Amino acid sequence: MTARTHDLAAISAYLVVVCTQDVRAVTVATALMVVIVNQVGGIAPDIDQPTAPFWRNLPIGKILGKGIDKMLGGHRFITHSILGLALFGWAAHWLLHLINLLIPNMDASIVWWAFMIGMVSHLVLDTFTKEGVPWLLPIPVKFGIPPIKKFRITTGKLGEKLVFIGIVVFDVWFCWVNYGVLENIVHHIK
Ligand SMILES: [Zn+2]
Repeated sequence: MTARTHDLAAISAYLVVVCTQDVRAVTVATALMVVIVNQVGGIAPDIDQPTAPFWRNLPIGKILGKGIDKMLGGHRFITHSILGLALFGWAAHWLLHLINLLIPNMDASIVWWAFMIGMVSHLVLDTFTKEGVPWLLPIPVKFGIPPIKKFRITTGKLGEKLVFIGIVVFDVWFCWVNYGVLENIVHHIK
């Protein structure tokens, strides 16, 4: 899947989670960081792809990306597994605590969840693609839905476009149905 679809899925997944939880008062800093960090989580697993937008936007990104790619075992390897989720979750935890020193009024645990929800949405979405996802690494089996490969989505092709449109339609419907809840959430940002 492309970064665009992953970012849309990440924020949509977060929206669903936040609308089904008890509303908590958060600072503007927390709310802003939730959005940014959720988007980073949504594309973080593709750090193992030398052509990922993540690397393309850095001046020496190409070289760095290739190095990281080798280290992580190539595309759709460790960053696309439960083990990778745990490692990234651990790293994000410490990184957010460091950021907390600079932005003391940010609730690091809320922002951490936004990252993890973004990252999980990435792995779930990739499971629907032809390549599949090695969820249980080091067990080297790639899982995919549906199990028959030819019915799965090819990145950048019609299938992905339909998924993108599907998520947009879902979001419009979801926001419509949960308008009151969303209003309440916004009122709790101080
Ligand atoms: Zn991916």
